[in-house]
Amino acid sequence: MKNLFTKKQYDNLKRYLQSAKNAAIIIHTNPDGDAVGSAVALAYILKKLNVDSNIVVSNDFPKFLQWIDGSDKIMVYSKNKHEVRTAIKTADIIFCLDFNSLDRIEILEKIIRETTVPRILIDHHIDPANDFDLKFSYYPISSTSELVYRIGIKLLGTKILPENIAEALFCGMMTDSGAFSHSSSYPDFFKIIANLLDCGVEKDKITHLVYDNFTENRMKLLGYALSKMVVLHEYRAAYITLSREDLKKFDFQIGDTEGFVNYPLSIKGIVLSLLLVEKDDHIKMSLRSQGNFDVNEMARKHFHGGGHFNASGGKMLCKYEYCEPELEKIIKDYEKKLCSA
Ligand code: 5GP
Ligand code: MN
Repeated sequence: MKNLFTKKQYDNLKRYLQSAKNAAIIIHTNPDGDAVGSAVALAYILKKLNVDSNIVVSNDFPKFLQWIDGSDKIMVYSKNKHEVRTAIKTADIIFCLDFNSLDRIEILEKIIRETTVPRILIDHHIDPANDFDLKFSYYPISSTSELVYRIGIKLLGTKILPENIAEALFCGMMTDSGAFSHSSSYPDFFKIIANLLDCGVEKDKITHLVYDNFTENRMKLLGYALSKMVVLHEYRAAYITLSREDLKKFDFQIGDTEGFVNYPLSIKGIVLSLLLVEKDDHIKMSLRSQGNFDVNEMARKHFHGGGHFNASGGKMLCKYEYCEPELEKIIKDYEKKLCSA
């Protein structure tokens, strides 16, 4: 398997770990399968190396990830501020997983910036910020879970992992690759998946737990969202907007809109899809593309965000009623790139 990181990086990590006892593992706001899966697995690896850890996050994660062993111990700032503050302040090492700039952890950014302990990044997004003492950053890869797997087997000196940890990593690699439909076109990805199956992962069980775990309301919200999708064939783009009122009608639960943004890309000819969801003080955006249209650039330039070439996120700060005309103006500016993508 190709080495993604240098001996010096591993030596530095080992040196940091030798003098550490309590780690804080931080994952991004609106955590997904990759964030939760990679964090739980890293906590196991650290434990094996005699480092205790707490996983912290600013807001809660979706119900369809609650089966992940150890996820019940994740400390959620919006539920228990004191517990999260203490976990961060008493840590002698901090791991940042599945995000590459501290603004992605929102409310926790300030608390982290007040700490002076080493900050280690493990992440697969483009252009990491200079907020870290040591970076394990590699963007042409499926997921942070895959990076944690690679780093973990190197540090532990074995490919044998307990079934529950293999399941968590499998979940991260599966969800971030859209159930193996993108970001996974290289043999090493499937060699790792094969090893996770050898460790006891039952593929169909995990697929069922993640993808067949929705409420009736979530399915109806999806139907509603698709019914109001706007398709701009002349720009090869489509978008869906959901207001707070829309969400309320379908008893929105965290995670319910996950995956919605992928559907418009199934329309023949569409290369750009956007989902806009009204939140309290902004509009949360998800961007997806096909082929060589760069949504990371679009999200950074126009939507205070970023992510990957074909999958990014961001926000609009205008009022909900102005987001559609504003968005269409921006899409029109990309006509040339969209039509040649
Ligand atoms: P999603 O649309 O599923 O929320 O996110 C797609 C990708 O973009 C993920 O890799 C996620 O980490 C990243 N992302 C989502 N929201 C933001 C954001 O506000 N800022 C940045 N920089 N990345 C984001
Ligand atoms: Mn990820």
